[in-house]
This record gives sequence, C-alpha cells and structure tokens, in this order.
Amino acid sequence: MKKFVILGGGYGGMRMLQRLLPNALPNDVEITLVDRAPYHSLKTEFYALAAGTISDQHVRVSFPDEPRLNIKYGTIVNINLQNNLVHFEDESTLSYDDLVIGLGCEDKYHNVPGAPEHTYSIQSIDQSRATYQTLNNLPPHGVVSIVGAGLSGVELASELSESRPDLTIKLFDRGALILSAFPERLSNYVQKWFVENGVEIVSKANITKVEENKLYNHDEEIYSDAIVWTAGIQPSKVVRNLDVEKDPQGRVILTPHHNIPNNEHVYVLGDCASLPHAPSAQLAEGQAEQIVQVLLSRWKGEQPPELSTIKLKGVLGSLGKKHGFGLLAERPITGRVARLLKSGLLWMYKHHNG
Ligand SMILES: Cc1cc2nc3c(=O)[nH]c(=O)nc-3n(C[C@H](O)[C@H](O)[C@H](O)COP(=O)(O)OP(=O)(O)OC[C@H]3O[C@@H](n4cnc5c(N)ncnc54)[C@H](O)[C@@H]3O)c2cc1C
Repeated sequence: MKKFVILGGGYGGMRMLQRLLPNALPNDVEITLVDRAPYHSLKTEFYALAAGTISDQHVRVSFPDEPRLNIKYGTIVNINLQNNLVHFEDESTLSYDDLVIGLGCEDKYHNVPGAPEHTYSIQSIDQSRATYQTLNNLPPHGVVSIVGAGLSGVELASELSESRPDLTIKLFDRGALILSAFPERLSNYVQKWFVENGVEIVSKANITKVEENKLYNHDEEIYSDAIVWTAGIQPSKVVRNLDVEKDPQGRVILTPHHNIPNNEHVYVLGDCASLPHAPSAQLAEGQAEQIVQVLLSRWKGEQPPELSTIKLKGVLGSLGKKHGFGLLAERPITGRVARLLKSGLLWMYKHHNG
C-alpha cells in the first residue's frame, strides 16, 4: 500500500478528502489526515467567534467518517523531506510516500516590537477563543484597537460593534482608504458604514510599537484595553522552516502541478502555496481539486493533465449581521443582498461538509 498523507484538515484538505473518498481513491493507496484539532474549523467565521455573535460549535465541522480514512491528531513540528517523515510535538513520527502540506497561515507582525506578545489574534480557533473571552469580558466602554483593515479586520470591527455597542472601536490601517485590495467604491461604502456605526477609522497609520494596553501610531501612544492584530499573514512555521524555495511572502514556490520542484511526491496547498492569487479558502479548494487530478494520474502511472488557471468566483465580506459587500465576477455588490449571499454560502458549505 502507498501511504498518502494530508497535513491539515482546513479548506484545502477537506476538499481533497471530499474528492477522493469514498470511491476515487485507488485500492492500493492508504490515506491519513493529520490535524491538531479534532474537527475542521471554519476559519472564515473566526471574526464572529471572536466578537461573540456565534457559538463555538457553529465554526466546527466533523472530519469525514469514512472507513478508509485514518486520522492522526497531533501538532506537527517539522517535516523531513529527505527521509519522508513528519515529526510531531510528542516526538512521534509518520512516514509517507505522497504528502500534501496544507497547514494554513499565522499572523505576520512585520517586526513591530511587542506585537506578538501584546495583541490578540483570529488566525486559529484557539486564538479566536482567547480573543472572544477578552473582548467579551471587557468592562463597559472599553477601548479596542484593531490593527489592519483588510477583510478580516473589517469583519471583526463591524461584528464587534454590533455585539458590544458600548465599546470604542478603533480600526487602524496603513492606507488612505480601508480595504485597499477592493475597488474604491466598496472601500467608500464600508468606510461610510463604519462612520454611521460609530467605529473610528485611523487611516495612514503606522504602528511602530505595542506594549501592554498601549499601541503606538507614528509614535503617538494610544491606550487600548485590548488590541487585535489583523495586519498580515504568513505560512505556518512548519512551512517557513522547510528548506525549499519560497516567494517574498514565504509561500512555497511550486511547479505547475503544485508539487515542490524536483519532488513529485510533495505538494503544498492553500495559504502555504505561492499561487497567482491572494490566499483564500476558495483558492485552497480550487487548488485541492487540481492536486487530486494530478495525484490520480500519477498513481495510475500516467502523465498529469495540463492544469488551467484556478477560477475564483469572487469575495464576500460582512458588516455585522445585516449588511455586506463583495465582488462577484468582478462586479461590486453591497448591502443586504451581499450579506444574504454570504450567509447562504456558509449554509451550503456546512450542508455539503457536515
Ligand atoms: C477572519 C477571516 C475571514 C476570512 N474570510 C474569508 C472569505 O470570506 N473567503 C475566503 O475565501 N477566505 C477567507 N479567509 C481566508 C481563509 O480562511 C484561508 O485562506 C483558508 O482557511 C486557507 O485554507 P487552508 O486549507 O490553506 O488552511 P486552513 O483552513 O487554515 O487549515 C489549516 C489546518 O491545518 C491545521 N494545522 C495548522 N498547523 C498545524 C500543525 N502545526 N499541526 C497540526 N495541524 C495544524 C489547522 O488546525 C487547520 O485545520 C478568511 C480568513 C480569516 C482569518
């Protein structure tokens, strides 16, 4: 039996399992999923978990219950590409013949002193729970600073303003306008929503230092009861430590078939992979579909097919529970329809994976 191992049951890992099980996996391949958590976490909803508007159970989906699927729970600390071995925190190891690395990402602090120690995060479910506890235990009229007004910072700020209207929320961003990756019309719409809902936007910010309950913007000290970091991501540390070629964001450079150069047995998936789009759940799923095609060909001893560009449908963001914004087929949409679409997609995702 060939040993096929998927590291990470995130959006990419789950899509691979969906496509391979129960019937597509060849009979001579044994499949193992590895994750530190006993369930798949809906990372795209972590902002709501942290804000306290949805329950913990709402962001968990069980891994597939398939007789052919082995699941190993554990925290991976290292991958030895020379010896085909995955090393765990508890010092156990797992060997593989074919490997997919889909371990997601972590916060990137851009060398801002104090940021790792004194800010909260929404990049993992454990961190989002800690953020939830802190934000929801704050005394009346506390001050929350959120650093970074990309999609996750905007979603957290808006959700928190609905969850805790008593709080003063400050959203800091480097740009003149928030949501710099989106068309200006959408940025303006979201900015207006924040003004109307009492969230303070601090644009052209430059966070130079963080201390306990203190943020320094261009060296101006700003008191904050809690600071949440949403200002950048980088691949998981395990991937950062791999001795392979990476792009400037630290993501692994791959061949057109998504394996690392000179090794047809190791693939990198999702937020850890250098792809021609910004990381997203949708991209991880699209790439997972392609890796499945490549693996099925290679397991049959055939040349893998030429792969087309991964097509993305768009992106949707929420502004609390009633409003939203997004780009669908490159067309901006705003308001209640955008929010309904986002909720509908989440429902469908859970329906297909639950
Ligand atoms: C607040 C927020 C909102 C977002 N909204 C959207 C959105 O609307 N649309 C969109 O497309 N994308 C969105 N994203 C981005 C999206 O969540 C990621 O791009 C996506 O999760 C990447 O999928 P992945 O499979 O690469 O990794 P992940 O889904 O992050 O999965 C990684 C898995 O690896 C496991 N893992 C990690 N390290 C280890 C280890 N050392 N040992 C064992 N297991 C480990 C984790 O437990 C996890 O199950 C959002 C992200 C955030 C934070």
